[in-house]
Amino acid sequence: VERIVIVGGNAAGMSAAARAKRVNRDLDITVVESGAHVAYSICGAPFLISGELREASGLVHFTPEEFQSQRGSRVLAETEAVHLQPGLKRLEVLCRRSGRRDVLAYDRLLLATGYKPRRPRIQGLDHPLVFTLARLPDALAIRDLVDAGQVRDVLLVGGGYIGLELCEALRRRGCRVLLVEESESVLGTLDRDMSEIVARELRLNGIELALGSTVGELRKTQDAGRIAALLQPAESWSTVNLVLIDIGVEPNVELAERAGIRLGRSGAIEVTERLETSVFGVYAAGNCAEAFNLVSGRCETSCLATVASKQGRAAGDNLAGRLARFGGHVGTSILRVFGLEVGSTGLNTSQALSCGFRADAVKISAPVAAAYLPESTQVTLKVVFDRSNGRLLGAQAIGPRGVAARINVLAACLHQRQTVEEAAQLDLAYAPSFSQAWDPVHVAMHAAQRVMAGRAR
Ligand SMILES: Cc1cc2nc3c(=O)[nH]c(=O)nc-3n(C[C@H](O)[C@H](O)[C@H](O)COP(=O)(O)OP(=O)(O)OC[C@H]3O[C@@H](n4cnc5c(N)ncnc54)[C@H](O)[C@@H]3O)c2cc1C
Repeated sequence: VERIVIVGGNAAGMSAAARAKRVNRDLDITVVESGAHVAYSICGAPFLISGELREASGLVHFTPEEFQSQRGSRVLAETEAVHLQPGLKRLEVLCRRSGRRDVLAYDRLLLATGYKPRRPRIQGLDHPLVFTLARLPDALAIRDLVDAGQVRDVLLVGGGYIGLELCEALRRRGCRVLLVEESESVLGTLDRDMSEIVARELRLNGIELALGSTVGELRKTQDAGRIAALLQPAESWSTVNLVLIDIGVEPNVELAERAGIRLGRSGAIEVTERLETSVFGVYAAGNCAEAFNLVSGRCETSCLATVASKQGRAAGDNLAGRLARFGGHVGTSILRVFGLEVGSTGLNTSQALSCGFRADAVKISAPVAAAYLPESTQVTLKVVFDRSNGRLLGAQAIGPRGVAARINVLAACLHQRQTVEEAAQLDLAYAPSFSQAWDPVHVAMHAAQRVMAGRAR
């Protein structure tokens, strides 16, 4: 019987375990997970904090026992993989409950260790009121503090998508939120003009925004329920009940690195299309591994469940001996920011320029239902393309509704390396409740065609 060991029991690891077992029921699969939970959707954590979701169990697809009995793979929860010896095909693990060390022998091993939140290099981070949000216990701890009525003022450091989702969750709980962001705009995946629409929505909903600002230090106060933060460059102190840090993530690669497995230029584990690492018999998938971006042509880190699950599934096939590849992604994401849906795919303008494309962009606003209907709202759609050949490079969309429909269509166009010309011909669904006969995607393509033809925008 072939022995498969998987390190990491969430999106990538569990997709791989389930897939490998489906392909070959005879495999002996063990999943090693350092946390108490496996197979859960941390993406739903903001809803737990906001109170829209009452029970954390709603986020958990399987308990370790359920996964074991229903999917036929052994799950060692609260067990950390501490030392990998690929030459001997052995993995040393440490059970956190008993303190016992064990050695697992394997034929093939998958690293699905995900990412960890970046932490700023400032004093005072060890204060009990400072949190990052990466795993379920973080979400539960934040929710419990808010439930206990101990949180009125919150300082959020970082305006990425998790930070923005937390803004909304905490406002729903009646908290006052100050969002501090080092750059001059929130959501770095967007062009500045699109990001300004999001910033306006945040302010309209009572979020205090300090752009171009950072936190230089955190300090205890006399009151154990409060913490002081030094805001820079203002050099002013702000006292709050909770500090949440969301300044980005980095791949969890220590185990791989210590085992001599090659990392890519991005810092994540280098993998082939079949998710093989530089060491025979060891695979990697999910946010600890590099993902090929089909638009930029570069291998990069990814921080999305969509990529992790697909890589995990392909790795599961390969672990089971069936050839499968992860062809790449185009960087598609979406989130809700109060009354707006905010989506993007591909490259924004500055990313496209830095990849060497002759990037240009058009921005249009168009209705997502016939203008004569009361439910008609506008979506703002910005499309980035290469002026030299019309190739689509990316898109960003913002509006009260209808964003996913446009972004997903354009993501498919990016997968197909379509041009503005080709996307202008797409046969998209139309009835008055959903769009106009010319969908916003067509309207944007027509604007881009005019630029290509050298006519006015
Ligand atoms: C609040 C929040 C909201 C999100 N929303 C979205 C969203 O809307 N859409 C989206 O696509 N993505 C979203 N994401 C990102 C998504 O959750 C991740 O991309 C996804 O979980 C990555 O899956 P993974 O399996 O690669 O890694 P992880 O989910 O990080 O799992 C890795 C696992 O490995 C374990 N591990 C690490 N090292 C060891 C070790 N040495 N031994 C044993 N176990 C180990 C960890 O405990 C962890 O459970 C969100 C993330 C957060 C935090």
